Amino acid sequence: MAVAEPVACPTCELHAEAVFRVEGMDCSEEVVILERRLKPLEGLESVSADLLGQRLHVKYDAAKLTTSVMVDAVGQTGMRMWLEHEEPAASGADVRRRWRLVLASGGAIGAGLALSAAGQAAASAVLLTLAAAIGGVFPARRAVAAVRSRTLDINTLMVIAVAGALVLGEFLEAATVVFLFAIAQWLEVRTLERARQAIHALLDLSPRDALVRHGGHEHRVPLEEIGLGDEIIVRPGDKVPLDGRVVQGAGDVNEAPLTGESRPVDKRPGDEVYAGTINGRGALVLRITRLARDTRLARIIHLVETAQASRAPVQSFVDRFARIYTPAVLALALAVALVPPLALGADAATWIYRALVLLVISCPCALVISTPVSIVSALSAAARNGVLVKGGAFLERLGAVRIVAFDKTGTLTRGDLRVVDVVTTDALPAAEVLHYAAAVESQSEHPVGRAIAEHARASAIPVHPAARFTALPGLGAEGEVRGQTVLVGNERLFAERGIAVPDGKAGVFVAIGGRLAGSIALADRPRETAREAVELLRAQGVRRIVVVTGDRDDAARAIAAEVGADEHRAGLLPAEKHTLVGSLREQYGTLLMVGDGINDAPALAAADVGVAMGAAGSDVALETADVALMSDELLRLPYAIRLARATLRNVRTNVAISLALKAAFLVMAIAGSATLWMAVLADTGASVIVVGNALRLLRTR
Ligand code: ADP
Ligand code: MG
Repeated sequence: MAVAEPVACPTCELHAEAVFRVEGMDCSEEVVILERRLKPLEGLESVSADLLGQRLHVKYDAAKLTTSVMVDAVGQTGMRMWLEHEEPAASGADVRRRWRLVLASGGAIGAGLALSAAGQAAASAVLLTLAAAIGGVFPARRAVAAVRSRTLDINTLMVIAVAGALVLGEFLEAATVVFLFAIAQWLEVRTLERARQAIHALLDLSPRDALVRHGGHEHRVPLEEIGLGDEIIVRPGDKVPLDGRVVQGAGDVNEAPLTGESRPVDKRPGDEVYAGTINGRGALVLRITRLARDTRLARIIHLVETAQASRAPVQSFVDRFARIYTPAVLALALAVALVPPLALGADAATWIYRALVLLVISCPCALVISTPVSIVSALSAAARNGVLVKGGAFLERLGAVRIVAFDKTGTLTRGDLRVVDVVTTDALPAAEVLHYAAAVESQSEHPVGRAIAEHARASAIPVHPAARFTALPGLGAEGEVRGQTVLVGNERLFAERGIAVPDGKAGVFVAIGGRLAGSIALADRPRETAREAVELLRAQGVRRIVVVTGDRDDAARAIAAEVGADEHRAGLLPAEKHTLVGSLREQYGTLLMVGDGINDAPALAAADVGVAMGAAGSDVALETADVALMSDELLRLPYAIRLARATLRNVRTNVAISLALKAAFLVMAIAGSATLWMAVLADTGASVIVVGNALRLLRTR
């Protein structure tokens, strides 16, 4: 990374971005320390941290600052940072040294205990103090760095607590707290590391190299070196490494990794095959259509990563709470240490000890870390099941959905329309009418257009693309063929253009040179699972289901009845869909709109959650919606809502667990029934429990 994008600028600024990995950044206090350390550096523009990914995104002026200066600055805090694409230097040495110290400290504790049992109180105290000192080397280093950047982190609090215990003569207590703290931190880091790996593994789908066919030879080539038009061989059972078109061979491909849909998809020459999918029994030769960084999979991973970096409102709430919580507990600790002894003449040592326990409890780590782990786990699980949710915020809104609006064509119906009849009203033969219509429609992405063009091709009617093609969303399309304007579309379009059409005909009309030439009847089938999806949505507490369509009223009524919707609105233009969505929201609450086409984009934007049918091809949908169903499977909608609800429950449980533990220990500490080591255990225990609980979301099906 650290790619500089030079700008033409006389004062010589060189804007650059770098992504670092930071070892030791596990809690929000460390982020504050890093920011305080980096912000004063000249040339630094912005820093943003991704706690779960342990990544730091830095924008800086490369004319004034280098990445190595930043790395050194962070090194002084006791954390280690390196550019993401570089291997960390001497990885593991630190960890090993730390462990040797912890073991030595444990040994010293054992010896101290033995001496104490033998009645050697003084020697035991010396050994236990030594144990605390040895085990405390690493926390102390971090604590100093934190104090220097004027923050209190868990290390600072621990060091104060341990020093206090030593002063109070609680030698065994001090030594065991240091020892437990080291083990606790190790456990916490390990749990988080496991979380990171579990989440990453879900998305790590594509191989690193491919078998390239070149001049009769085959060799393995790293993906980055493969260019457009190269030919690669995908053996049976192999993972497809890049997006490409089949030029030779045929077979079934499992697209589940991309779409969550495990039914194999038939691929023959001319079909597109996607990176990350799994080849079945046939051998395929693919011609590469997209470079490694542009594949569908790469874009999905990018979207998921961006989604993970975006913050859900509940997360900001937790962070705000944590920011008040820690100072409040610290103030309480100070009061507990001072007020009873000074004002009430109570025993100072007793109350100072209780204050030290409060110090340990004041760390909000479990609380802060659990929410992002829950949300990221949920986003990853969803992606794995073919539902791309573009941020934690949408999970929250998904959980609150009360009304669902479905687009008809291509969403509730399969969108693979078939032409069932071509009727002429003029002297032209049916084949001629179809020829003109197909010339226009061959350039349309609308299911109606595609069906007409496809039908012409299947009937061996030559299709020459029309000039001046214009899509008229919600109405039809027009173009110019042999100097004549050709119009294809619905009643509404023809009424607008003042062309009379016969009544009661389903399908679309065709006009050539402003005169009605004929009509084309089309049939569409509802998706098999549409009805079941609607039922499940209702079971999830969705109160109203509405069908919105640009198609005719009778077609809308039929499909609404078939899938069991409450209401249908027909003949809508894109802007009218948008307005309708707005008023339905006001009436029923949080609204989810599902659509497939460009004509649905305004409505998707107006909805609380815009869901696009995102299966192979329609990139527009992927980019514009809040959620994309990669497999076009409507049953994924109730799944998404269920997952969202489970996530919100999970977050609430976690917040409750960590708050309850804190509250219990707060009371116990003041009452004097909690010891330092119990507080340390409770703190880590809470982190491990909540992260473990959050990871359960990865398995939601
Ligand atoms: P829906 O809202 O059900 O997805 P659209 O808004 O995409 O439907 O289209 C509404 C109607 O407009 C279609 O039923 C069809 O009659 C007409 N239409 C849209 N695009 C075209 C086209 N390219 N060719 C012919 N008719 C079209
Ligand atoms: Mg549609």
